[in-house]
Amino acid sequence: MRHAVVTGGAGFIGSHLCEALLGRGWAVTALDNLLTGSLENIEPLFGREGFRFVRHDVTDYIHIPGEVAAVFHFASPASPIDYLNLPIQTLKVGALGTHKALGLALAKKAVFILASTSECYGDPLVNPQTEDYWGNVNPVGPRGVYDEAKRFAEAMTMAYHRYHAVEVRIIRIFNTYGPRMRMEDGRVVPNLIVQALRGEPLTVYGDGSQTRSFCYVDDLVRGIILAAERGGTGPMNLGNPAEMTILQFAHAIKKLIPGALKIDFRDLPVDDPKVRRPDIAMAKRLLDWEPRVPLEEGLEKTIPYFRAKLGAAAEK
Ligand code: UDP
Repeated sequence: MRHAVVTGGAGFIGSHLCEALLGRGWAVTALDNLLTGSLENIEPLFGREGFRFVRHDVTDYIHIPGEVAAVFHFASPASPIDYLNLPIQTLKVGALGTHKALGLALAKKAVFILASTSECYGDPLVNPQTEDYWGNVNPVGPRGVYDEAKRFAEAMTMAYHRYHAVEVRIIRIFNTYGPRMRMEDGRVVPNLIVQALRGEPLTVYGDGSQTRSFCYVDDLVRGIILAAERGGTGPMNLGNPAEMTILQFAHAIKKLIPGALKIDFRDLPVDDPKVRRPDIAMAKRLLDWEPRVPLEEGLEKTIPYFRAKLGAAAEK
């Protein structure tokens, strides 16, 4: 069995990645300090052959016995509210955590896959964003802790690639959604679904004209594994190019969760990107990958997860 280490393995994307790797016959060691990840996300994986979980903060030295063929570095707070509340941990896991995870990949001669982000483009001045765009980031703004940590992580990854010849893949992940996002993580998908299920007004920040492009988690994970297997140092965008305004997204939620829901317009967060849409030509060319799950279908798979969570919370 090939052995993969997934940092942030109990997180939203990390747990789906662990599951998909196990399904493809990999042995998986998931590392997580459970700061924003949760054991509930990986509960179904305990008992699966080849799965192991280690509670560990990857900003500390990582010791893994035996062979490792791939290191997926997915540990980080990733929602704007999380990284505003955890600014130092966010910087540390992007910097020190990336260093430790790269050290592991070097020692094991493993391929290293970095979960980078569309936030590297900041509040972009070009749309869609191609990988050769250097971005428009405010280093001292509230989002700077995440954006700069990930930019540093990319630079560190390239340094290990150039200096130590570590085989690397840098993936820039755009907005992704699906089951196992935290109800309270503050992002627009869980916020609006949970509000709609509770019959509360939908909070739209600003006038809702800012755009995002939402990728269903299964599509993303398929792309990540293809990137690991087929290569391309990158950076490479992975996301769904179907762009919409946040107001349009709120209306999509209203359509799927009926009720006379009002929209509650709130202040736009500082440095909130006005547009975001991936150019995925590189992923199409190198991986023959593109998303398959349209928004409505992905939301129909996601809403029952939150409905069950709300039910469980009400029973407590
Ligand atoms: N947003 C919103 N209402 C919410 C949460 C977020 O209108 O309850 C907006 C937010 O201002 C941003 C977009 O939705 O423009 C996506 O926000 P999210 O936090 O999901 O992630 P981001 O793409 O900003 O990293």
